[in-house]
Amino acid sequence: MNIIMLGPPGSGKGTQGALLSESAKLPRVSTGDVLRSAVERGTPLGLEAKGYMDQGLLVPDEVIVGLIEEVLALPEARGGVIMDGFPRTVAQAEAIGELLEARGSVLDRVLSIEVPEDELVRRMLGRAAREGRSDDTPDAIQQRLEVYREQTEPLVSYFSERGVLVEVDGTGTVEEIAARVQEAIGQ
Ligand code: AMP
Repeated sequence: MNIIMLGPPGSGKGTQGALLSESAKLPRVSTGDVLRSAVERGTPLGLEAKGYMDQGLLVPDEVIVGLIEEVLALPEARGGVIMDGFPRTVAQAEAIGELLEARGSVLDRVLSIEVPEDELVRRMLGRAAREGRSDDTPDAIQQRLEVYREQTEPLVSYFSERGVLVEVDGTGTVEEIAARVQEAIGQ
């Protein structure tokens, strides 16, 4: 089963993606985590991505699509994956459709995690205090929300038109949201 966790920064898609990965026994790929690890290790990918990430901007599509292509080629991805933080643009959405088709696979569900904007900001500022992520500064948070609205939110209608979108209420406790996620994938 191939599942996309779609939602604005701070929506909890990472937390829910990790829980779903355990319960559905599917590997989770978070492009944000892959990029942060590359930045920490100072790899060529990390050096290229850092500037975009610190400003709250998207890393170029071709870099990200190359990365996902590598992940899908891994043996553990054969039974499907949970994608968290990817796709974030229409070009990326088109690319994943093609990549899956080329492997004789399909996109089963896109879970759109819905959270009001004031709560998103509150959650991200809380995370900044706890984890010290370099892109959780007030300026970068605003920038990431703007980038989300402009470049990623159109994917809600993109996937809805393709009949794979399920909206999930992302407010409440982690357990409440996890129960809605299970329902949304029909389990
Ligand atoms: P995240 O942890 O998913 O919020 O991602 C953190 C940052 O990594 C984003 O603000 C982007 O700079 C970059 N990033 C992660 N995933 C993508 C993607 N699919 N496309 C472009 N940039 C990405």
